[in-house]
Amino acid sequence: GMQTNCEEPVGDFECMMAALLLRRDKKSTAAHLKSDLNRTDNSSGVRQLQELLDSVLNPEKPPADTEALDWCKCLIAGEEGFEEFCKTVRSYDNATLCGLVWTANFVAYRCRTCGISPCMSLCAECFNNGDHTGHDFNMFRSQAGGACDCGDSNVMRETGFCRRHRLRTGENVPSVPRDLLLMSEMVLPRFIICIIQYLRDGYTEPAERDLQKVLQQLEPQITFLEELTKMGGAMRTVLTKILTNQQTFKDLSMGQEENVFAKKNYENYLSALKNSGLVSVEEKAQTGAAEPTRGSETGEDQDGQSIGQRKRVKLSSSTKDPSIMDSLKHKCFLEELLFWTIKYEFPQKMVTFLLNMLPDQDYKITFTKTFVQHYAFIMKTLMKSQESDTMSNRIVHISVQLFSNEDLARHVTEECQLLDIMVTVLLYMMESCLIKSELQDEENSRHVVVNCSEALLKNNTYWPLVSDFINILSHQSVAKKFLEDHSLLMLWMSFVSFFQGMNLNKRELSEHVEFESQTYYAAFAAELEACAQPMWGLLTHCKVKETQEYTKTVVRYCLETLQIWFDAIGFVDELAPNQVTFHLPLHRYYAMFLSKAVKCQGLDLESLLPDQEMLMRIMVHPLQIQASLSEIHSNMWVRNGLQIKGQAMTYVQSHFCNSMIDPDIFLLQVCASRLDPDYFISSVFERFKVVDLLTMASVHQNTALDGEQERPMLEGALTFLVILSSLRIHLGMADDEILRAEMVSQLCMNDRTHSSLLDLIPENPNPKSGIVPGSCSFEEMLSAVADFKAPVFELGGSMQQGMYTPKAEVWEKEFDPIMVILRTVYRRDVQSAMDRYSAFLKQSGMHTTGNPWPPYKERTPLHPCYKGLDRLLHCKTLHIVIFTLLYKIWLDHSNMSEHVLCMVLYLIELGLDNQVEEDKGDEVRPSHCHDSWFPGTNLLSNLHHVINYVRVRVPETAPEVKREREPPASTSAEASNFGQAQVFSLVAERRRKFQEIINRSSTEASQAVRPKSSSTRWVPPGTPPQLVTEILEIHESMLSLLIKLHQKLSAKQNSLSATWLEDMDANPNRHAHGDGITAIERILTKAATRSHQSKRSIQEICGKVFPPVAPKKNSPTAKKTMDKEERRQRARERQQKLLAEFASRQKSFMETAMDVESPDTEAAMDLGASEVKESEVLYDCVICGQSGPSTEDRPTGLVVLLQASSVLGHRCKSDEAKKLPTTDEERIYPADTCGAAHDVRLALMQSFFKDSSCLQSVSIGWDGGVYVQTCGHTLHIDCHKSYMESLRNDQVMQGFSVDKGEFTCPLCRQFANSVLPCRPGRSTEVVSWHMPSNKKTSVLVKEVEDLQEQLGFFPVSTTTESNLSKEMELVIKDIKNTTQRKYMDYGKNPGSPDNDFLFMYSVARTNLELELVHRGGNLCSGGASGAAKRSCLNQLFHVLAMHMRLYSIDSAYNPWTRLTQVAPSRDKPDVPMLFRDCPSLLIIFVLTMPQPLRKEHFICLVRMLYNLQYTQALAALSAKFSPEERQAWSTSGTLKKCPFNTICALLLCFLSQLSSSVWSPQSIEYSLQQFCLPYLRLSCLLQHHLYGDNLSGCPEEEEFSGLAGCLGLLDPAPQPSNPMYSASCLDWTVSAFDLMSQWCSEVTGLADTQAEKSMTLLVQDLQWASPHLLHLPDNYNTIFQYYHKKACTACKKVPKDPALCLVCGTFVCLKGLCCKQHGICECVWHSQHCGAATGIFLLINASVIIIIRGHRFCLWGSVYLDAHGEEDRDLRRGKPLFLCVERYRVLEQQWVSHTFDHINKRWGPHYNGL
Ligand SMILES: [Zn+2]
Ligand SMILES: [Zn+2]
Ligand SMILES: [Zn+2]
Ligand SMILES: [Zn+2]
Ligand SMILES: [Zn+2]
Ligand SMILES: [Zn+2]
Ligand SMILES: [Zn+2]
Ligand SMILES: [Zn+2]
Repeated sequence: GMQTNCEEPVGDFECMMAALLLRRDKKSTAAHLKSDLNRTDNSSGVRQLQELLDSVLNPEKPPADTEALDWCKCLIAGEEGFEEFCKTVRSYDNATLCGLVWTANFVAYRCRTCGISPCMSLCAECFNNGDHTGHDFNMFRSQAGGACDCGDSNVMRETGFCRRHRLRTGENVPSVPRDLLLMSEMVLPRFIICIIQYLRDGYTEPAERDLQKVLQQLEPQITFLEELTKMGGAMRTVLTKILTNQQTFKDLSMGQEENVFAKKNYENYLSALKNSGLVSVEEKAQTGAAEPTRGSETGEDQDGQSIGQRKRVKLSSSTKDPSIMDSLKHKCFLEELLFWTIKYEFPQKMVTFLLNMLPDQDYKITFTKTFVQHYAFIMKTLMKSQESDTMSNRIVHISVQLFSNEDLARHVTEECQLLDIMVTVLLYMMESCLIKSELQDEENSRHVVVNCSEALLKNNTYWPLVSDFINILSHQSVAKKFLEDHSLLMLWMSFVSFFQGMNLNKRELSEHVEFESQTYYAAFAAELEACAQPMWGLLTHCKVKETQEYTKTVVRYCLETLQIWFDAIGFVDELAPNQVTFHLPLHRYYAMFLSKAVKCQGLDLESLLPDQEMLMRIMVHPLQIQASLSEIHSNMWVRNGLQIKGQAMTYVQSHFCNSMIDPDIFLLQVCASRLDPDYFISSVFERFKVVDLLTMASVHQNTALDGEQERPMLEGALTFLVILSSLRIHLGMADDEILRAEMVSQLCMNDRTHSSLLDLIPENPNPKSGIVPGSCSFEEMLSAVADFKAPVFELGGSMQQGMYTPKAEVWEKEFDPIMVILRTVYRRDVQSAMDRYSAFLKQSGMHTTGNPWPPYKERTPLHPCYKGLDRLLHCKTLHIVIFTLLYKIWLDHSNMSEHVLCMVLYLIELGLDNQVEEDKGDEVRPSHCHDSWFPGTNLLSNLHHVINYVRVRVPETAPEVKREREPPASTSAEASNFGQAQVFSLVAERRRKFQEIINRSSTEASQAVRPKSSSTRWVPPGTPPQLVTEILEIHESMLSLLIKLHQKLSAKQNSLSATWLEDMDANPNRHAHGDGITAIERILTKAATRSHQSKRSIQEICGKVFPPVAPKKNSPTAKKTMDKEERRQRARERQQKLLAEFASRQKSFMETAMDVESPDTEAAMDLGASEVKESEVLYDCVICGQSGPSTEDRPTGLVVLLQASSVLGHRCKSDEAKKLPTTDEERIYPADTCGAAHDVRLALMQSFFKDSSCLQSVSIGWDGGVYVQTCGHTLHIDCHKSYMESLRNDQVMQGFSVDKGEFTCPLCRQFANSVLPCRPGRSTEVVSWHMPSNKKTSVLVKEVEDLQEQLGFFPVSTTTESNLSKEMELVIKDIKNTTQRKYMDYGKNPGSPDNDFLFMYSVARTNLELELVHRGGNLCSGGASGAAKRSCLNQLFHVLAMHMRLYSIDSAYNPWTRLTQVAPSRDKPDVPMLFRDCPSLLIIFVLTMPQPLRKEHFICLVRMLYNLQYTQALAALSAKFSPEERQAWSTSGTLKKCPFNTICALLLCFLSQLSSSVWSPQSIEYSLQQFCLPYLRLSCLLQHHLYGDNLSGCPEEEEFSGLAGCLGLLDPAPQPSNPMYSASCLDWTVSAFDLMSQWCSEVTGLADTQAEKSMTLLVQDLQWASPHLLHLPDNYNTIFQYYHKKACTACKKVPKDPALCLVCGTFVCLKGLCCKQHGICECVWHSQHCGAATGIFLLINASVIIIIRGHRFCLWGSVYLDAHGEEDRDLRRGKPLFLCVERYRVLEQQWVSHTFDHINKRWGPHYNGL
């Protein structure tokens, strides 16, 4: 029987019972059914199951009810339970692929060495288990998600497979038992249709219901599907069968006829299907309009300004395959499931499910086909999506897995028309945003272009489609299909033409544009991604002769489409003025296929070229771009805003140049090589608008340019010609040579890091990564041309990265200024390259005087196809221009510049080096230039040709007109010349040529038909009526002008002697580098060597004696520059006046800053200078500049920075830094730190003794102590106050908070937050401190006691409240505010004066201890007293002492008494002397006694405390003895040397510690010294600061005696022969035995009850190693792999931004709300508790370190660098990173020395949000 339970349960109890029963029922039902189904006649079993499923899987029930899901699990699993079932199925997994699917932000790997497809990726596990040593791999954070390709030999090489997937596990797996998956096969189809029905039901058109909500409800069901896929190959096979079975789909899809719900549900599905085609049903009805018609639609967008005006244009879609445009039809579950996945915009879980199935080969093929079938629908949905970014990522997540596989891609290309679909969809997409082209003549234009301000382009929505297209074109088999299919190619070309001429710029002539359009980036991105990338993809398959046909076809269609384009925009031969578009993809396709054809396929260029007329047209637009670049740089487009500069820069930028400027230049070179050179040259000058300038006349008119634009435009034109005739990128350079040239030019501009160089080198033709057989790799090339400069580290210096710099021989031989100009985005980079070049020449002694000129470089010979290009250098037109310019430069005409001369000389030299073979065939053509300036076209022979007369047209006012016109008495030849003196008009020349060529090339006289609209528009320039014709007398040749210029440049008459040519030949290399003089000499030499006639001519000219060099005229240029100079001067004055007022305050202290090198304080305190003995200490105020004493009324203070520090507390016993844990097994134990040890000790004392006594027996401040540092500058405290006031009003000051008292030192700009008042006083006092003492110790002890008696009688409060004492109290307040309360209140009663007392003297302790740490932990290095003066400890002690007097120590408890007298024992609660900390006692005494303290009294204190310290040492030592040892030592003779061996015996008797150590007299003495050393060091340092004594250095092993001597504990005369005994420093004023007995008895009384604890207190180790940051592993990956997915211990989640404290290793959630408490995020919170507001954190995902200091933070940089010495912030490159030990040391050093604030500059507030 079958039991189903559809009734609603009643009560809670019943409900539970029912559920229990049902669960049991499910299991037994499942078992029962399974056995039924296994029978031979299973029809009843099948029927029963169907009935059960009918009622369980009811789509009318809400999906949130998981009852159905439970049933399915039970039925599938049978009696063994689902978990168990999963395990069993998994054991039959035969998959050989990894296939792990991941989503965004997952960390994966890519190995270019192993990858066949560039999209290949590996999961971390597979990567780490494979062998990729030495491979080109990187780690990356997945953006769109992906899947592991390990095991898939279609995508990657087998050598890269991991161990597991290399083994082909599948072959050994047993086959699946028949009945295991039987139930799955029966149940799952029903389950899947149920999900589908939910999806149908949830969707309505238009989607009004919240799709996310529907998906959320379905979550458990879809998760279940995903779980199934994880069971491995066996289950995937079952699923594949179900998903692809057409019969099942047919049976189940419609549902039962009688069911109303199912019927409606199915109709819902059908109506959704209906709109799935690209063409809507209505549109299909009205196809017919063949002509493009304007749509009525107008786009609405955020910046509607631009769209609103432009109307969308709709095209008819007649060209496309209707089958692609149609609605979808489904035949299996998989198809409908994908359909809904698309409709629901790719829910993540569904995507993961679909991808998880991919390791099943049958599924993979069917799914790929299904995906392709839905491709158009996917893109249609994408365009409508609100979340197109997310959806794009999900689409690519899937498509990359399918299309990266060549077999699969080819398969669907062949069977499913993939290419047709993609191109059609691309067209469809772009057609949605077409507008009429405005290029040329908008009214009559029939061309349409994409509108770059539409969302589709601006948001890059087309990206997934284009990326798929590029991906499949990378497969040769697919690309071939594309190239063979002519109709596809044609369709593609019409797609490309949508981008031709888009984003047109019109030059603003009157007003500045109101709105700077930002569409340009969308346009550049679109051309690069949608046009250029597919082009490069296709080109990689056109590399060999066999593929010639492909290239020919592409070229043919390019030309056809170009012709259509010219016709559509109505272009004849004249450009509409003031327009430019940077987008000419059709030109560029044509250019690049031409280049490939000649370079790789051996095709004849001639066969691929169109007729001359077409070439002339093709040339126009690229040339216009070159001219516009020059216009933009000459500021002619300023009114169009900054964006136009952005376009000019993007056009040449490294990611675009290969696809834009390079093809353009190449195309122009092709045109130049085929067209008439005179025509080409005149076109160039006309385009650059400098034709008018090219006259010999002194005055000219320019209708097109303003005066100040002429020079830069002329320079631009000449530079362009130089580039055109010298660039060889596509004219014969090999790929390696190109890479080398690119690299050299980038390195010459600047030293580069490896990564920036990688970024700056264009991708084509040499991809920077991956293996291109036969070509030189990036790395090899780099090491050939550059030297590596390792990062240099200086303490306090900025972090440097590893840099590459050109090798010397590269500067000498390869620096190519032309390549630099071509590749510079910023103009300053050209200058930078020249500066670096000059510096190199100077340094190497090659050129030492003046500024060198850009070096001339010889070019590689041209490929025979392009030989015609050289004719450009050998045409009369160019020679006339050169002659004219040389002449004008010589005469100092306006608008000439050094740059012009440099380019002219460059052109001459290029001409000399690239001779044209006089081709007989050429002579058939008629004369090239209609003039008689020069006899021929050869430059070499034209050089020495003398021009006698030139006819110019000038205004009547020109100087030429006034000159007396008188033809010279002449020979007949000259007379005839005179008659023919030439007027030369370039424009007229060009127009005539154009006509000629057209007449010649088109015999059909088509030109007669062509409307010559342009010719009526054209007005010849220079026709204003005032012009008159004048004849100039010249009598110069180019050679003579060159020689005159040589004289002019060298400022020497006859600078070239008649015989100089003979001297030249000796060393030709001498002339490689130099200035203009060198260049002219080089040219003359070349001319002389190559032509006898030139040589004779040169010798003749040089032999003549010239008149003195023409004095420099006050030319208009000069005047202009003077004017400019004057204006600038005036502006500068005005500015200075303003500044003077503004900065008078700062100025005063900046000026005094100049001579404060030797402050008076230093001199005053120098005791050797007797003459200043009587004078008061003087201080300079860095604000007002006055100097004077610090007085009670007007105190002076030191600029100080107070900060809380826990550096001391983090010290450990071991000198080895603790290791950062990188596995779960490793841990850091914090208990052994100095801070923790002191806390334990104090707590232990407090459990035994009176609190107030405890608080005087230790020091605190190990954690959270206040450290005081100063820059050494002083200021009046009242000056400081007004300074702070001005800062508060100054909005510019940022980076610190004035309200918190923060400021920067007005003089040195160091960060500070308080002012420490200076003690007023006379230096006589200083002397009195030092008075030598002959008093007996007992007398001194008594004097000290008396002084201490005064304590109570000397309260500060009774003295008049002076300004000074007020300031002193203020700084005390600052000190207290610096640290947190918990670091001050150690007593049992919070806020008691005892706490305050402890805190105050501990401040002194902290600062002394830190100084010791900074000195390396000992005082062996010594130090002059000057060091003490630069420190502020003396002033700090004074302030502390003044404050400490507020407290009185109960004289009854005065430790001095107990230290120096034998007295009856006191209350137990007092801390025994043997437990007290001697350094603390010393500081307490010093600070509580009347100031200033005499040195003799100080020494007395040190001596008495030494007695105690030594006794403590003995006690601690004897505690380590074994009883036997104790016995032996107490009777041995060694200790008898000191008079108190009995004391030792006394001490020994209560100690019971066992120890097996063996002690010698030497080791005992050594450990006693070690025990006392910290005390001696501290005393010595204190003395140094109080009295300015020099610290004498000593070897480390003699430190004890050195310090003892320094403190006067020992006879100053050293006795090196005798071993030093620590006991000889003892000095007792009472019986040592009695006193020590007394101290011991204090402990022995206690020891009875608390032996163990008193032992702990007695045996203390006072030595701490210097502080260290954690020890880090060498390889960053070790840290990253462990921590990037580690869960936080507080919130148990994996943080989004994990961070690590480098001081203690704590792992925190940076910025995470999860761990925020009291409004403070975890990182900041930790910094407060671990470092007293200083924190050093390593950001795991970024590899950088941030510093937190109080309320501020800064980015410190990284201590991990890649193999090239570079940081990789945010792990963008993902290359292996290694610890840079030097950097880490710098970091640690800054931490220990508390200099983060001073060295790091960019601080910002963190608002507790880190
Ligand atoms: Zn894997
Ligand atoms: Zn693997
Ligand atoms: Zn590899
Ligand atoms: Zn002052
Ligand atoms: Zn300063
Ligand atoms: Zn920490
Ligand atoms: Zn946390
Ligand atoms: Zn957290």
